[in-house]
Amino acid sequence: MDVPVIAVGRFTDPLLADEIISSGQADLVAFGRQHLADPDFLVKAREGRAEDIRKCLGCNQGCIEREILEGKKIRCAINPETGQELIYPKGPAAKSRSVWVIGAGPAGLTAASEAARLGHQVTLFEKEEKAGGQLYFASQAPYKGVYGEWRSWLISNVEKLGVKVQTNTLVTDALLEKGEPEVVILATGGAPDIPSIPGIDRPMVCSAMQILGNQVPASENVVALGGGLIGMETSDFLTESGSKVTLVEVLKRSPVKKFSAHGFMLHNRLREKGCRLLYNTALERIQENSVTVVSEDQKETISPIDQVVIATGMKSREELRRILTERNIRHFIVGDASQVRRIIEATEEGAKAAWDV
Ligand SMILES: Cc1cc2nc3c(=O)[nH]c(=O)nc-3n(C[C@H](O)[C@H](O)[C@H](O)COP(=O)(O)OP(=O)(O)OC[C@H]3O[C@@H](n4cnc5c(N)ncnc54)[C@H](O)[C@@H]3O)c2cc1C
Repeated sequence: MDVPVIAVGRFTDPLLADEIISSGQADLVAFGRQHLADPDFLVKAREGRAEDIRKCLGCNQGCIEREILEGKKIRCAINPETGQELIYPKGPAAKSRSVWVIGAGPAGLTAASEAARLGHQVTLFEKEEKAGGQLYFASQAPYKGVYGEWRSWLISNVEKLGVKVQTNTLVTDALLEKGEPEVVILATGGAPDIPSIPGIDRPMVCSAMQILGNQVPASENVVALGGGLIGMETSDFLTESGSKVTLVEVLKRSPVKKFSAHGFMLHNRLREKGCRLLYNTALERIQENSVTVVSEDQKETISPIDQVVIATGMKSREELRRILTERNIRHFIVGDASQVRRIIEATEEGAKAAWDV
């Protein structure tokens, strides 16, 4: 029977779609979420500008989860225009201002590109060698390479829009005094929140970022502390590297919901790869080759353990808040610097701050 076939599901690349049609695997390719991430992607494809396409992450935060689970209207975690077309400023702004964006994670990169698009003079500061903030670590976890592609897209977008990017530059009180920016968008993000547990200073202890950033190699017998997204993804990374992982989480259930698309696969993968998941369990002490955990007054010593990886969440970097207020500099605080959350909040707040400059 000659039945027309339409291929669908996570297509983001027009070249792949062409290949599927020309090889006879399907008659049509349907793009869904990709239209929310970049409504111009087919125009860009036709013009041969494939590298300009903002590829959907498949995160579902602004579309499927927001609509179905939160009962709200559709947005897109990486495209601040989606669902906000009626308030999206076309620009240019009535007055061009000198804007400093401090921190080049998703909030700062989005703020910088939106402010530059509206005609402001934008300088983007980043203390690290490379821009991207936590996106770099997110992109190292298994199956999250597309986060790295988005990071590259964000960086090339600010450059195309004429943003002056100053990496390796920690913004301090002295720099603010010297530079006298008219407006600051503070997007300094979050830093790991390290708990005070006996033994936390031992050399076998490291952070999830050190593992994902390949600064510390994965060991054989590992305890990962914290069963949130960062802890679970780091455990996924560690088990892929061949480590035997025990994940310790104080809550009764993982904060990563199994019914989210990514959460479903993450829970399945960890189970399949034999990761031991201990919920309702606190890490009490780290010893030389073991750890002691407590669950409902029952103590257990787990050994041998040669690495403890801390993923107990992030806390906002607040150092510059007081300084900006004291210096009476008009400012906006966006993304994790305001409150540790997700990418969708970071990009939305970054964009809105730029619109309000
Ligand atoms: C492993 C991992 C996986 C994740 N996965 C997801 C996910 O799947 N979905 C999701 O929604 N979220 C995820 N997140 C969280 C998400 O990455 C963050 O919510 C988001 O990056 C916050 O963006 P931000 O721009 O506010 O801050 P950040 O990304 O933290 O960026 C802040 C930047 O500011 C710089 N900075 C700080 N102080 C200064 C200063 N004084 N001067 C100059 N620069 C400074 C920092 O170096 C950093 O580059 C993940 C995080 C990690 C670590």
